[in-house]
Amino acid sequence: MKNEKQTQISEVGEFGLIERLTKNIQIKNESTLKGVGDDAAVLDFKNKQVVVSSDLLTEGIHFNLMYVPLKHLGYKSVVVNLSDIFAMNAVPRQIVVNIALSTKFSVEAVEELYSGVHLACEKYGVDLVGGDTTSSLTGLTLSVTVIGETEKENLVYRSGAKPNDLLCVTGDLGGAYMGLQLLERENEVFKVNENMQPQLQGYDYILERQLKPEARGDIVAAFKKIGIKPTSMIDISDGLSSEIMHLCKNSNTGCNLYEDKIPMDFQTKKMAEELSINPLVAALNGGEDYELLFTISIEDYEKIKNDPDFTVIGHMTNVSEGTNLITNAGSAVPLEAQGWNHGK
Ligand code: ADP
Ligand code: MG
Repeated sequence: MKNEKQTQISEVGEFGLIERLTKNIQIKNESTLKGVGDDAAVLDFKNKQVVVSSDLLTEGIHFNLMYVPLKHLGYKSVVVNLSDIFAMNAVPRQIVVNIALSTKFSVEAVEELYSGVHLACEKYGVDLVGGDTTSSLTGLTLSVTVIGETEKENLVYRSGAKPNDLLCVTGDLGGAYMGLQLLERENEVFKVNENMQPQLQGYDYILERQLKPEARGDIVAAFKKIGIKPTSMIDISDGLSSEIMHLCKNSNTGCNLYEDKIPMDFQTKKMAEELSINPLVAALNGGEDYELLFTISIEDYEKIKNDPDFTVIGHMTNVSEGTNLITNAGSAVPLEAQGWNHGK
């Protein structure tokens, strides 16, 4: 992109820009009757229930363009929204994308951002059906809204967990946070000496977890296949600790989470050691892993026990027992909801 001619947005105008961003869209879903090009998109979900979720991302708060490539940003901003739809046990069908741009963004830069948006749409089978484009004085603001659907009886809320249900998680945790720590460390080095090459070798997995996360649509499909409906579910955007507390609060239960059960990748632990961070903190409070946290009734254990995608990390208890981390030493420590403080 760097060697190409950079076109000022004023040269093509707002409509010219929208045309360039949306000209190749091919509708993939039956429910999309009308996409980009009129005053509003038209959707038809027949007898399905419709689920909607939205996220707003601001430059300097949610992303740093010093080390986040625009294409990755476009991809990730779609994926994190799809994750919310999967967390309802639903299937995403359409997205709407709103952008506010300052004059530092060329037409080519916005096209690069949209190449990531389109890539995510391809991968997850969703249609980009509209949006809005406006100017900004302070960098880039990006908002994605996603619309999904499922049958009423499939929907899974945060509120359905019962005492004795098993608490389960997909994939592994803490990687995205450790990837971010690595990128920030190298960015600091770069600020001091622009000739320094970043030291990123051996950390491809955690970098990908941070820069190009995936949403667990495969898990929603797997639930259907193996005949499981979780009793409650949430996606892990803010760290395991805070998400567990959401499930417990909404379901009016307590829980015991076992430290030694929390799944973590080798690179996550290695980076944590290098930076003298407790990897448990990365998993509990790091955020941005976009895995699914869910509860199942104990009778369903047989159906998941041999699947490497799932790890049982604890169980739900009576609300009076509180939300506890059972440490490797066997003591119970109350969980704290720190969430992820983007501003640090
Ligand atoms: P309006 O004046 O009604 O807001 P616009 O000119 O903003 O219409 O948009 C024209 C069409 O392009 C609409 O279908 C709108 O949804 C779509 N659109 C505008 N901006 C974007 C964008 N950033 N991404 C995708 N679609 C967009
Ligand atoms: Mg508009």
